[in-house]
Amino acid sequence: MKIINSIREMQAFSESVRNAGQKISFVPTMGYFHDGHLSLMREGRQLGNCLAISIYVNPTQFGPSEDFEKYPRDFERDKSLANSVGVDVIFYPEDKEMYPEFYQTYVDVENVTENLCGLSRPGHFRGVTTVCAKLFNIVKPHYAIFGKKDFQQLVAIKRMVLDLNMDLEVIGMPIVREVDGLAMSSRNVYLKKEERESALSLSRSLKIAKDMYDGGERDATSILGQVKKYIEGHPHANIDYAKICDTRTLKDVLRIECECVLALAVKVNKTRLIDNYVFGSQLDI
Ligand code: AMP
Repeated sequence: MKIINSIREMQAFSESVRNAGQKISFVPTMGYFHDGHLSLMREGRQLGNCLAISIYVNPTQFGPSEDFEKYPRDFERDKSLANSVGVDVIFYPEDKEMYPEFYQTYVDVENVTENLCGLSRPGHFRGVTTVCAKLFNIVKPHYAIFGKKDFQQLVAIKRMVLDLNMDLEVIGMPIVREVDGLAMSSRNVYLKKEERESALSLSRSLKIAKDMYDGGERDATSILGQVKKYIEGHPHANIDYAKICDTRTLKDVLRIECECVLALAVKVNKTRLIDNYVFGSQLDI
């Protein structure tokens, strides 16, 4: 497994792989791996001949009062996990490589980033789409694999790739959960023992919503009423948002008549957790 820090070197490596007629799969990450990350890598291993990943905690997607400095990092552990699933190359740049002095170019996807996390984390998606556009130009993948856990991120990246005619396929993978239902996240390490039960209110409320939907309920306000009541019944849990949106536009809906997603962001004390459920899909909890 190669570790590459320099953009030029990564571009040259990818160019040689492409010139040999091979397909590159790419999984962008911020590191501190869990099974969610590894599931994307396993998919990448299947899809392409060369599996590239990146580990980069991207400063431009964090707000000033967010956890950029504190974000968990463990490169040695990540390296051995990546190796165990057959990663060929890790792109692991430093900030000064990605954002040198005088850097001033950003990619801004408009409508689909306005609602949900776009409201509570201003500038977040601009940072995400910018770093992904840069990473796509550096790694030159045929396939880029993302998790549906970050549902709005996936929609925004797909939009960017379409709108900017980027020559790659974006693939969305199912949410990987702990046995108790908690969606895996690098931020779960922040959770204290006494906060775990409150953290589980997200996935359990998704199940309540699914059961209502499966029972024929289509009124978004009724479903959201039950979801919010359930989450608010937990100590430590503060809802940032709980919304039902059209999966194409990510605008709120009043009734579930097209493909819709229930998207949640909840702060469990200081830890902000997200989760979601697309109505009509499977939910393994
Ligand atoms: P991150 O390192 O948190 O930026 O995540 C890197 C990639 O892993 C993103 O595409 C995430 O959507 C994906 N991911 C994170 N958590 C999960 C999960 N529990 N299940 C599936 N994919 C995930």
